[in-house]
Amino acid sequence: MKFVITGSGGCSPIPKALCQCKVCIEARKKGFPYKRCGCSLYLEDISLLVDTPEDINSALNYNNINSLDYVLYSHWHSDHLLGMRIMEQIKIEWQDFYENIKPLNKIKVCTTENVMNDINKIRSPYGSFMDYYEHKVEVLERHIIEDSLTVNNIEIKFLSVPSKEAVTIFIFKSNGKKVIYAPCDCKNFPTDDDIQNSDILIIGETFIGNSLKNDKKIHAEHPLRNELHSMEDIIKIKEHYNIKDVIITHIEEYYGKNFDDYIELEKNYKNIKFAYDGMKIEL
Ligand SMILES: [Zn+2]
Ligand SMILES: [Zn+2]
Repeated sequence: MKFVITGSGGCSPIPKALCQCKVCIEARKKGFPYKRCGCSLYLEDISLLVDTPEDINSALNYNNINSLDYVLYSHWHSDHLLGMRIMEQIKIEWQDFYENIKPLNKIKVCTTENVMNDINKIRSPYGSFMDYYEHKVEVLERHIIEDSLTVNNIEIKFLSVPSKEAVTIFIFKSNGKKVIYAPCDCKNFPTDDDIQNSDILIIGETFIGNSLKNDKKIHAEHPLRNELHSMEDIIKIKEHYNIKDVIITHIEEYYGKNFDDYIELEKNYKNIKFAYDGMKIEL
């Protein structure tokens, strides 16, 4: 399997518009990998994208992606979903549209029933955006996945995160290799036998160190600890499930660290790396 981290950023991309913090100023000047687009992952073998953050068009261009057959959604949150218009932008050739020439090869949008129900609620004055994309401009078709999806020799298992809201994580399996992608909102990490002995866990929403942008400290009672994993939590998950390598993604602007800081931090951990846009993972 050949994956690329198309976006390693979090709720706000880096640089964040208007922001004059040192991380954003540097990212504006140096570009990638100091820049980070919203969180997404692409699997080259089957032209599959997980999530469509608002800046997904830039992310796909930067990574030279040239085909898209599947879009998987982890959950409805704006930072993972609101670039969904990318499917219309990719599939519709407007000069053909006005001659009623339909787009070829609709994109298959796949997620669990609960996540799909949430996504269907994102509406225009005329109804659900997904209804519009599926039935009016016919660029996609929705598929509800109960347990797993198999494409060619790759099986993707959809696991729900045990929490109040509908959130899915994915286990990609092929040729005896396993990659887990858990980009966001997975603090109550699911328990499943299939997680055991995975090769790689790509996981988001982890705070790194004990300070944030502008030297704000994450004290012992800080509410962030209820929402995000700490690095200690990640090490526990890694050991508990006997996972070989971990890659931290969904790296937030408000963590106040630049690309070089993460390279430096990696030296403190064994088999834990920090994602960057354009990072390739092959196994
Ligand atoms: Zn900033
Ligand atoms: Zn998120």
